[in-house]
Amino acid sequence: MNNFLRICIFSGIVIVSLEARGDESPGLSGYLETASRITKAGLRSGKAYSLLSDLCATAPHRLSGSEGAKKAVEWGRRTFESLGLERVRLEPVMVPHWVRGPVEEASIILAGERVPLRVCALGGSVGTPAAGITAEVLVVQSFEELRASGEKARGKIIFFNRAFDRSLFSPFAAYGGAVNQRGAGAVEAARAGGVAALVRSMTARRDDVPHTGGMRYVNGVGQVPAAAISIVGAERLVDALSRDPHLKVELKLSCETLPDAPSANVLGELVGSARPHEIVVIGGHLDCWDKGQGAHDDGAGCVHSIEALRLLKELGIRPKRTIRAVLFMNEENGTRGGEAYAAASRPGELTVAAIESDAGGFMPRGFGVGGSVATFDAVGKWAPLLAPIEVNHLVRGGHGVDIGPLIAKGVPGLGLNVDNQRYFDYHHSDNDTIDKVNERELELGAIAMAIMSYMIAEEGLPVAAKP
Ligand SMILES: [Zn+2]
Repeated sequence: MNNFLRICIFSGIVIVSLEARGDESPGLSGYLETASRITKAGLRSGKAYSLLSDLCATAPHRLSGSEGAKKAVEWGRRTFESLGLERVRLEPVMVPHWVRGPVEEASIILAGERVPLRVCALGGSVGTPAAGITAEVLVVQSFEELRASGEKARGKIIFFNRAFDRSLFSPFAAYGGAVNQRGAGAVEAARAGGVAALVRSMTARRDDVPHTGGMRYVNGVGQVPAAAISIVGAERLVDALSRDPHLKVELKLSCETLPDAPSANVLGELVGSARPHEIVVIGGHLDCWDKGQGAHDDGAGCVHSIEALRLLKELGIRPKRTIRAVLFMNEENGTRGGEAYAAASRPGELTVAAIESDAGGFMPRGFGVGGSVATFDAVGKWAPLLAPIEVNHLVRGGHGVDIGPLIAKGVPGLGLNVDNQRYFDYHHSDNDTIDKVNERELELGAIAMAIMSYMIAEEGLPVAAKP
């Protein structure tokens, strides 16, 4: 296949794109027919849901370094191979290995009575002594309030109780406004002289299920244990404190961090017909927390990516460029998989774009599209292909934790956007199970990934070069 170089000036920057000579684009009407075939085949199959059910049954707990994560890696390889995908392989990566351990208990001790408090350790937390930590509680809404409390914090369990801002439309914005309590609460508690951190779960859902998630320590600050309590538990504790501000909470956690463990990203492809060395990456993360089954977070994103390739293969659609599905390891507590993928040397390869799905298996709405204005304009022309399934809402700005290191190297990043109002009902908790996923919504996400990755693999994207 001969290539010629096309150079044009767009929005003040030079756009260079390689077009395959003698291989004319079928135009939008041809692509509409292809998109329709993909959609019909996907909706008819329900295969995404059976793949996700299989993953959730095989490896419900897939935290990095765990036996579950090992099973998930094997599941990924086996699944790619059984679907006939190409160049299936593992790329090794060392990952953090934090374990929850068998003990995870808390209770409110009020007027000689013990009221149990459902609790879960935050990922990365140290454990308590075997006898637990029993202390009075200081409740705060913010780090500023904690710092202003002076000596009152000393020797106390610091309870960070700032709720999601329910007035915000975006649950991710509400999460962003609260999540520093989970990530840095233990450090702030220790700085203030506290002995442990309790954090209101990162959700707006009023139930008695605590939500875990990552936290960090920093050098030079003592390490105190950190755990989440449910929304109902937070209300119960606030109510109890209103009756007796000197009540005590007992906390027992057996979690600990073990030495780093070997693991892997899992790769499988549909090799391009004309430019196999030009790669469109699609992916989600294979690891998940050791609560629930990681169905939405992020089994759904893995399955979106696998099913997208399976659909193209089933229909005999082989685009010009390679589409590579990557099941990334260790998004939740280290992002080592995403970093290792971007750092790996693959001579002769050019990554054209990277698409991540990590917002759950809900009804897809569209894509966030990163890169240049020219990239957005190019992708925008394909919106009519996504309109029949109402996934044509394209917005500027594409990101994803696992593709972040690729984006940092200049690769245009896209993120699958879904209806995310329920995402934090389930996120990082026992609520995140397969029964919370709708078969058709999940499949439509895979169909959207298939159409978008196919179009990029077929048509390419403008590459911004310095004038
Ligand atoms: Zn995730």
